[in-house]
Amino acid sequence: MSFESLSLAPEILRAVLAEGYTIPTPIQAQAIPHLLAGRDLLGCAQTGTGKTAAFALPILHRLSTTKPKQQPEPARGEVTPSREGRFHDDRPQHGHMLNAFSRTRHAPKHRRPTRALILSPTRELASQIADSLDTYGRNTRLRFVTVYGGVSQGPQVRMLQQGVDIIIATPGRLVDLIQQGWIDISTIEMFVLDEADRMLDMGFLPDLKRISDCLPSERQTLLFSATMPDPIQRLADQILRNPAHVKI
Ligand code: AMP
Repeated sequence: MSFESLSLAPEILRAVLAEGYTIPTPIQAQAIPHLLAGRDLLGCAQTGTGKTAAFALPILHRLSTTKPKQQPEPARGEVTPSREGRFHDDRPQHGHMLNAFSRTRHAPKHRRPTRALILSPTRELASQIADSLDTYGRNTRLRFVTVYGGVSQGPQVRMLQQGVDIIIATPGRLVDLIQQGWIDISTIEMFVLDEADRMLDMGFLPDLKRISDCLPSERQTLLFSATMPDPIQRLADQILRNPAHVKI
């Protein structure tokens, strides 16, 4: 199988070929067709197998070839024109799913919905994923931000305020920024959990459940893990819908 035969958008294929990749690795060859067809995926694979491109290329493809399904909610206090041209106040109402995080203070003011969310256990892995998105997405206009703890949140918040298509995050900082109202996950169409077993070892399982409970139910979900301990299998059963299974 060649990259040309995968039907990736031309601007993404060009970036992959410019990297010197000639043939997809086994996980890419197995996963990418399912992902381009919109299926959920359970991937059992280690780092070093080419797993990042296996999910990054389908994300970049979908986001650069389709329009967002949903617009973000208006920011708090923002008044939007109704269809009749009159103004009405459609601030989030009580009972909205994001109230589970007691969304407060600052909602994003831009109108660019965030469409993909990639969760990683560590900032190192999150940064590597961001580097890959930068490389494979260099010919697209897609914008992304990496959010992780242990550093000041100011620069991350400024990127979020400008609007991003993709967020790469570690779970703790993501929950903080959702709670503070800087991130709206109600428009996510693609959700990736990378190295789920390491997230379990690091105690992130409750955060993962909380985050996935607040995502739209109509979404594409990908879960990658090197091992499948029971709690990860149960999480996979809860969050994936009829997934394709890929094991390397
Ligand atoms: P990953 O498992 O995603 O961390 O990728 C491991 C390494 O393989 C990275 O340095 C990638 O740049 C490289 N890589 C990924 N896919 C391919 C490919 N199809 N051909 C050659 N190198 C690749």
